[in-house]
Amino acid sequence: MDIDGKAIAKSYRNKIRKEIEENNFSPRLAFILVGEEMASQTYVRMKGKASAEVGIGSIKIQLPELISEKALLNEIDQLNKDPLVDGILVQMPLPKHIDEKKIISFIDPSKDVDGFHPNNLGKMLIGDSDCFIPCTPLGILKLLEASNIDTNGKNVVVVGRSNIVGKPIANLLFQKRNKTGNATVTIAHSRTKNLKELCQKADILIAAIGQAKFITKEMVKNQAVVIDVGINRIGKTLVGDVDYNNVASNCSFITPVPGGVGPMTIAMLLYNTLQSHKRRIT
Ligand code: NDP
Repeated sequence: MDIDGKAIAKSYRNKIRKEIEENNFSPRLAFILVGEEMASQTYVRMKGKASAEVGIGSIKIQLPELISEKALLNEIDQLNKDPLVDGILVQMPLPKHIDEKKIISFIDPSKDVDGFHPNNLGKMLIGDSDCFIPCTPLGILKLLEASNIDTNGKNVVVVGRSNIVGKPIANLLFQKRNKTGNATVTIAHSRTKNLKELCQKADILIAAIGQAKFITKEMVKNQAVVIDVGINRIGKTLVGDVDYNNVASNCSFITPVPGGVGPMTIAMLLYNTLQSHKRRIT
């Protein structure tokens, strides 16, 4: 059965819009975009549109590709100090001459709605709820929750160990927490041996690899839950990291691409921005 990420994300966006309207909130999100890369431009445009639809104001700061690191830090500093800005999002990737880690660490953690700042990741690691959880892993938790998939005691295999998806989702799922915690989690990556056998043991398989249709039918246990994070372009078509057409019939639940995890990532950005605004005004 497909997990309808589009519908679940829509219901989150509706809740967010309602809360903003009813309370006359005025959350504001700032996007920093360096360079003219098409994909980044598209992502920022989509996030800006989604923000406007729920009543989150946004500003876009477009900076030249050759901007110095110091000048970029200065832009972030202004936003850190601006009391009308609740969230700061620096669209990745940044040009090679800029140190992404340094930039992320410079964002005020209380405005880091992407949840990439070391303070937020550290708090997440120790299970402190006073933090921002990165949007894609948070979206996955919400998808599992909305589909009544209990992770307690389940074997989860996460393929991929990036800081924005693999590491945080693995960490969240083994936390001592009911419903979307208490799982036994294995993280796999490009050096993992016997990946097929490992994946076959997963009650819940999460693919965050970045390789089209990498997870094949033989790798998936019968009736497993499969969460496909991947977004890969084949010509004009978007496909996931899972060979959906051959895997889906074997699963109890699966997220399609597009329409699975992707819409939740944006919805969770709006969710985090609203949380930030509420913390700021109370
Ligand atoms: P990264 O490239 O940062 O990480 C990919 C991970 O996959 C790495 O840990 C890598 O291992 C592992 N990997 C690569 N090849 C193999 C292999 N042959 N066998 C096992 N593991 C392998 O990617 P991200 O985590 O940033 O993104 C993953 C995918 O998710 C991409 O398609 C991306 O576009 C998509 N994405 C989707 C989002 C959404 O909203 N739906 C949000 C963010 C990302 P190693 O560490 O050893 O190199």
